Parts: sequence; structure tokens; C-alpha cells
Amino acid sequence: MTDLYRVLPDEMDALVTSMGQTRYRADQLLLMLYHKFPKDISSLHQLPSEFREKLVAAGYTIGSATEVHRVVSKDGYTTKLLLKLGDGTLIETVLMQYKKEKGHPRSTVCVSTQVGCQMGCTFCATGQMGFERNLKAEEIVAQVLHFALLLKKRGEHVTNLVFMGMGEPLANYAETIRAVRLLTDPRAFGLGQRHITISTVGVMQGIASLAKEDLQVGLAISLHAPNNELRKRLVPTARPNSVEDLIATTRSYFKKTGRRVTIEYALIEGVNDSPENAAELAALLKGNGTHVNLIPVNPTAGGFERPKWKRITDFERILKESKISCTVRVEKGVEISAACGQLRTDVIRNIKTSPVMGK
Ligand code: SAH
Ligand code: SF4
Repeated sequence: MTDLYRVLPDEMDALVTSMGQTRYRADQLLLMLYHKFPKDISSLHQLPSEFREKLVAAGYTIGSATEVHRVVSKDGYTTKLLLKLGDGTLIETVLMQYKKEKGHPRSTVCVSTQVGCQMGCTFCATGQMGFERNLKAEEIVAQVLHFALLLKKRGEHVTNLVFMGMGEPLANYAETIRAVRLLTDPRAFGLGQRHITISTVGVMQGIASLAKEDLQVGLAISLHAPNNELRKRLVPTARPNSVEDLIATTRSYFKKTGRRVTIEYALIEGVNDSPENAAELAALLKGNGTHVNLIPVNPTAGGFERPKWKRITDFERILKESKISCTVRVEKGVEISAACGQLRTDVIRNIKTSPVMGK
């Protein structure tokens, strides 16, 4: 079985011609897939029936995920979907909207790339659930298309995409890149490459490969600590890579792609939020041209708490005084468990205790 949502436009050309159709059929098929969101091949009425039958006979299918749960934040700007995949696996995906003065809101979809994660970051709900499997490209694409359809009904559209859901995208490199190509190809979903950010905990080989991909996607590195000792406590799998190595990759990524790298730093009370930590981070990043996103941690089972607001603004001030560009990103949708991996954890817990949720 092959989901048509994993077939790249060039491959679609080859597929339709191998089935005796003209290349125009590939354009038609891609247009329907990425703009009409069909549920199955039999509903593609614009295609000749014998072609549809051939696709089905050759084992092609459409769609790999169904929505099983939806939560919307009180302000209506954050929506989280729990999707069920073909094998029954549950994954989560989030839409974060930001109102603009004029026009449509900025609508950022946050996708998962793995079920669970091998990296085991101590403050992360996904890291604490262990690793189940990699997602396929079509399962990553499906997350975006679920929101694209939801937004289309409101006359809006997906404007940005971040790989910041469950899992480590660069540990599932080939499928992540295939998904990026499907989502950015003008003949497929057509999102601007510059509107995409891939977030990584620091898979060095993956970063080096990404820089060579000829893609204009943004890169974010989840650093969380200004020195190796502290980083190893928060990111136990970080051992082989020093913070200095990671910072060096941001420079080579910028050189190759012209895109500045973002440094993500989850601020955790009493762990990595002291003025000394801020000064050390400033020294590490000085002259590097990176932008720092300070993210007050979303409390998870690990017992980590958000620092007091004053502590957060002090940290920010110290970075700014050292001329490090930085913003505090207050996570949206905390009350709907919008932090990475939290909804799935909550819902699975509920499914186990409530037969109604399990349907
Ligand atoms: N594995 C990748 C991408 C997914 S995690 C990575 O680690 O970068 C996306 C972002 O969410 C990362 O910056 C991660 O550190 C952050 N994150 C995870 N758990 C969090 C929490 N409880 N509070 C705040 N940020 C969290
Ligand atoms: Fe994995 Fe990222 Fe969570 Fe770390 S923060 S466990 S790398 S998903």
C-alpha cells in the first residue's frame, strides 16, 4: 500500500505515465490532493474511472490519519488535534494563531515527526514517554492537511510550519525532508520554504545534511543550557556533542544557507535561570548572530516549574545588555496541554480510565 500523499510531484509524473496517462493527470491529481482534500481514490471523479481502478489495483490509497480528539483554548487561538494513524497509533498536532492588525491571522502548524522520542529530555513529556516509531512523510503531511482543511472552511490558510511537536525531526531525517519537499513544492502544498522551521536537539549529522539540501528552511537548536554539565542533566543524550560544537554548527548553517539559526532555551526555575547562567549564555553566543527564544517551561511530570516573571525578564535583560538578540516566547494554550507530548499523555491516561474517551 502506498499513500498518494507520499508521492513527490516528479514521482507522480512517472507514476501516471507508467499507467498510460498524460502528465496532465499528475497536475490534476496533485491539485485535488492538496486543495480539495479527498478522502479516497473513488471520489476523484475528474480522473477517468479506469485510471482510478488502476491506482487502487496497484495498491495506492489516500490519507493516513483521522481526527479522534480536538481541544481549543479559551481564546480560540490554539487548537490541538489528536490524530489516529492507520496502525492505531495516536499523534498530536497543534495550530497556533496570532491576530494581525489587518488580514488573516498568522496560522502556524506544529507537527510531530516521531511517536515518542529517543532523546529523553528530562523536562519534555514526549521524552518521558519513550520511543515508539518514526512517522512517515505522509503522516507528517496529514497533520498539516487536517488544519489546512479546518482553516479553509473559515476562509483562512496555513501560513507557517514548525517541526516542534513530538519527536526529533533530524533523527527521522529522510521522511522529514520528504515531508518538507511535499509541503513546499509549488505543484503540491506550496508553502514557502522560508515559512518553515525545523527544531532539533542537536543531531549534528542531520544539521550538516540539512545545510546541503538546497532548502531555505529555518533551523532552531534546542540548547537549554550554557555549559555541558548542565546540558547533560536536561538533555541526557547530548553527551557526544558539546555546546561549543552546536554553536559552531549554527555558524556553518548560516554560511551555507544565509539563514540565521534560532537558539531555544526553556527556562526552568532554579535549574538554568540564574543571572550567572544568562551571563554564561551571553558569552557563549557573543558575535554568533543567533536569535534566542526564551521559553518559560511548561510544567510536566518531571517536576520542573516556570521561573517567576522577574527572573525571566532579568535573564532577558542580561542577554540584551550583551547585544544578544532575544525574545521571551510565552507558550500559548497551556491550559489545553499544548506543550510537546502533553495532550497525548493526558488523553491516553483518560482513555485508560474512561470508556467514553476510548471510542
Ligand atoms: N525534538 C526537537 C523538536 C521537538 S521539541 C527539539 O527538541 O528541538 C520542540 C521544542 O519544545 C524544543 O525546543 C523543546 O525543548 C521544547 N519543549 C519540550 N518540552 C517542553 C516543555 N515542557 N516546556 C517548554 N518547552 C518544551
Ligand atoms: Fe525529544 Fe525534543 Fe522532547 Fe528532547 S525536547 S525529548 S529531543 S521531543
